[in-house]
Amino acid sequence: MKHNFGAGPCILPSEVFQEASQAIIDFNNSGLSILEISHRSKAFEAVIEETEALVKDLLSVPDGYSVLFLQGGASQQFAMVPMNLLPQNGKAAYLDSGTWASKAYKEAQKFGAIEVVASSKDANYTYVPKEYTIPADAAYFHYTSNNTIYGTELFEAPQSPIPLVCDMSSDILSRKINVADYGLIYAGAQKNMGPAGVTLVIVKNDILGKTGRDIPSIFDYRKHAEAGSMYNTPPVYAIYVSLLNLRWLKAKGGIEEIERENIIKARTLYDEIDRNPLFKGTAKLEDRSRMNVTFVMENAELEKSFLALTEERGLVGLKGHRSVGGFRASIYNALTITSINTLVDLMQEFAEKNA
Ligand code: PMP
Repeated sequence: MKHNFGAGPCILPSEVFQEASQAIIDFNNSGLSILEISHRSKAFEAVIEETEALVKDLLSVPDGYSVLFLQGGASQQFAMVPMNLLPQNGKAAYLDSGTWASKAYKEAQKFGAIEVVASSKDANYTYVPKEYTIPADAAYFHYTSNNTIYGTELFEAPQSPIPLVCDMSSDILSRKINVADYGLIYAGAQKNMGPAGVTLVIVKNDILGKTGRDIPSIFDYRKHAEAGSMYNTPPVYAIYVSLLNLRWLKAKGGIEEIERENIIKARTLYDEIDRNPLFKGTAKLEDRSRMNVTFVMENAELEKSFLALTEERGLVGLKGHRSVGGFRASIYNALTITSINTLVDLMQEFAEKNA
């Protein structure tokens, strides 16, 4: 058995993989594969309806919001957000807390004026900037709730005089959020929702249609909302596997239960990083992510041999992103406390050998 600490696409529950593989052979005893049925069939309509209902249920999405299943990943949202929300000759505000956040505002600059209210780039994004003012004359304020690469996370929605837009790609469905705080939330599915290929968008309907821009239909949230995410052929299989994963999450107790487990998992690993003399965390303490735990070794020369040891013992995906170095343990919903304990034991074993 492997312990998969990969950053994404990443671990999903093994029962989801089992059921997902079964549906490729014979979907719901229909004699057909999920891969060969029409997206307009009754069977797939039921899939997309249940997926939408589960997202609404798990995240308590209030009335007045559309839940959309799109393609193009979170990166497409970097462009779709300003296309749909930034008025011609208008302005939007962005927080630069990491590589993805900076990609988001650079893409938005193609559609209008962008004010970057604060940045932690000078400190290699080791913290989430807190001292800034959100301009009331901007159309929206964009931030990234979890910085997958740098291992920082912003748990509280900032107080804002304008609609909040949040990239939640790497922490959606891992903790409680108040959707009503947001104008728009987006997330590539391939962390806690499902496989790569589908992107979740939750958008407040009344913020749309105000740009004065003639938006190409495929990039227009209103077109997708009117068509119930069936404006064109949706990513049928990615939505189906997401449904299986959402059912798993619901059955285990929903967001409240997974958040409780995620807190324990993160605390267990950070405690070891702080206690073990060989390792040190890279993110500022109060901004530490519960999803991506970034750490290095005091003696960088030992990093190669620790990484080799993890791989030898079946712990995969722990190599840090090149912009941080060291290690990154991505500890998404489906990763169990057993995998965390296995990593902690190995850190202790390595420290004893290298004392
Ligand atoms: N935002 C965040 C926070 C991410 O972690 C990622 C991918 N890891 C992206 C955006 C880009 O997502 P995609 O590859 O789906 O375009």
